[in-house]
Amino acid sequence: MSVRIVGEEDTRRLLPMAECIEAMASVLADLARERLHNPLRSVVRPPEAPTLLGLMPAYRGGDEPLYALKAVVVAPENPKRGLDAHQGVVAVFDGVTGRVRGLVNASAITAVRTAAVSAVATRALARADARTLAILGAGVQARSHLEAIRTVLAVERVVAWSRTPGRAAELDGVEEAASAEDALRDADIVVTATTAREPIVRREWLKIGAHVNAVGSSIPTTRELDTATMTAAALFVDRRESTLNESGDYLFAAREGAIGLEHIRAELGEVLIGTADGRRSDDELTVFKSLGLAVEDLAAAEVVLRRAEAEDAGAVVEL
Ligand code: NDP
Repeated sequence: MSVRIVGEEDTRRLLPMAECIEAMASVLADLARERLHNPLRSVVRPPEAPTLLGLMPAYRGGDEPLYALKAVVVAPENPKRGLDAHQGVVAVFDGVTGRVRGLVNASAITAVRTAAVSAVATRALARADARTLAILGAGVQARSHLEAIRTVLAVERVVAWSRTPGRAAELDGVEEAASAEDALRDADIVVTATTAREPIVRREWLKIGAHVNAVGSSIPTTRELDTATMTAAALFVDRRESTLNESGDYLFAAREGAIGLEHIRAELGEVLIGTADGRRSDDELTVFKSLGLAVEDLAAAEVVLRRAEAEDAGAVVEL
């Protein structure tokens, strides 16, 4: 069979942020309408290895059914090697015959679709007059989020902080803050995109009415937000089942007895289709906890493959 392989550069070119944002809004709405199949991811975590392998399968039915599997190795030391920490492939299969339709670079898909989902959340949940953005972290996701949030909001000021002094200043058009607290002081919108293990956000540092996209921790054993922030917030998630199984931000606060399942106001898709409330007042603190879903990878890879087929981009090989 003929399989199209799309590399990192082509994937980024064929997945413009604005288009990916609309694809993510659409796939999250479909998820809320229960049209998609998205089992929990499996994680292969050898105790002796500093890396892990994540396997994220999904299925979409309809006229042109598709399966997808993102297989991604997370290698946290990679930035020191000049490499993205997320390495792998999104394999897309014809849902009828099972034939492999394409293999798409997973670093690019992950960078763009994660920030696009946060942009969807920000558009739905942030105050309409939000203008100041704070970004904690200065890696792949921080850069991608800078582009994504600017795509959906008229951002006037960006303040960024990262663990290593000087790193945040490398982001395009931002002011570097001396501490996370300083970065958050005036922020209407916050993005946390670090590999921190302990909270880097404290409730008392956040402005009234702020919206937080908590992106960094995708595992039960690390978190970026303290319990007070989680407790005070109207909490939105990409998926309840994933949150209860994978989110350290949620699970630490839950283990301390501060919150439970009922604290989750809605999945983002439910807000998008109007079956749940979003922000209820200008003073409310909203948190969108992002874990990342396989259906997002499927939808993003489909956009890339459709465009690659149309312009004959990438390479077609016999498999
Ligand atoms: P990078 O390795 O590119 O960047 C990591 C950032 O975290 C760097 O800015 C680094 O700071 C900072 N950092 C590391 N340790 C600490 C610490 N102890 N305290 C504060 N900051 C710290 O990673 P990515 O941008 O690719 O990913 C960021 C996070 O997002 C990861 O945890 C990843 O798992 C998660 N992620 C979530 C997704 C989702 O769908 N929700 C999808 C993809 C990733 P510095 O460089 O200044 O030292």
